[in-house]
Amino acid sequence: RAKEQGKNQYQFFNGEMDRIVLQKTIIETALHEAIEQKQFVLFYQPQFDVQTGELIGMEALIRWIHPKLGTISPAVFIPIAEETGQIIPIGEWVIEEACQQMKRWNERIGRPIRISVNISPKQFLKESFVDHIHSVLKKKQLSPHQLDLEITEGVAVFNEQYTIRKLQQLKKLGVHISIDDFGTGYSSLSYLRKFPIDRLKIAKPFIDGITEEKEDVAVVKAIIVLAKNLKLRVIAEGVETLQQLDILRLLQCDEIQGYVLGKPLPADVFEKTYITSRLQNE
Ligand code: C2E
Ligand code: MG
Ligand code: MG
Ligand code: MG
Repeated sequence: RAKEQGKNQYQFFNGEMDRIVLQKTIIETALHEAIEQKQFVLFYQPQFDVQTGELIGMEALIRWIHPKLGTISPAVFIPIAEETGQIIPIGEWVIEEACQQMKRWNERIGRPIRISVNISPKQFLKESFVDHIHSVLKKKQLSPHQLDLEITEGVAVFNEQYTIRKLQQLKKLGVHISIDDFGTGYSSLSYLRKFPIDRLKIAKPFIDGITEEKEDVAVVKAIIVLAKNLKLRVIAEGVETLQQLDILRLLQCDEIQGYVLGKPLPADVFEKTYITSRLQNE
């Protein structure tokens, strides 16, 4: 019986693996055409100052709408693109598109607004990364202060010295740096002393628990205090309820991003909701 079960488990495991490999192959092949055929779009999610309620920026989030496969989540295809190297052209497109959008919104609002862009480790670690950022900003005549790059703790693990050098070059340009999903990267905190960064983004799993779990409140509180002592801004992501928002305000978190205040939206809808309407109220 045990033997039989073991065999079944093996078969199940094998079947599951086949399915994952197949899915990966399909996605990898489809990704080849995705850029040329303009299947990607950027959505934008607002970020607010907790105390004043003011819109302070937005995060660009990629969406892939495939003509046959439908909408494919970045949580599924970004890791595959990262593995195959396809993240390089995709990431370059994201930076150019986000900067183009920023330029348009600058003209509309009349004051600069910040755009956060997610950067995968492979993209960040590529030799030409800083040059590409520099050339896009120059080409679009944008202030580097308006661009925020969200990197993960993973780049710290790979090669600390190289990462510090690249971050210093980006700082010199004037670009902002945030650590995304802070607290989930299994890395030591020592990099925080050495990396020239501007902001910590508290990962959603901690935020999820703050209304129920003492431990999560303790972690979030500690991250906020840590950020303040290091003179970094701190933002909570994935905030879904007003109760969570209240706690974060009490803990003096600087900024909030989450469904409770706004979901990611296509550029035109974002513009109507947060930019045009604001201008009319002023
Ligand atoms: P992330 O950078 O941590 O982005 C936050 C994710 O949480 C986004 O998922 C966002 O839509 C979602 N989110 C925001 N607020 C809430 C909330 O209140 N509740 C819930 N349940 N979710 C919320 P999304 O857009 O599916 O992106 C997933 C991940 O894919 C991102 O996580 C990021 O790591 C990656 N990604 C997205 N766009 C890009 C991109 O342009 N380049 C790269 N390299 N990675 C990207
Ligand atoms: Mg992010
Ligand atoms: Mg992330
Ligand atoms: Mg995140």
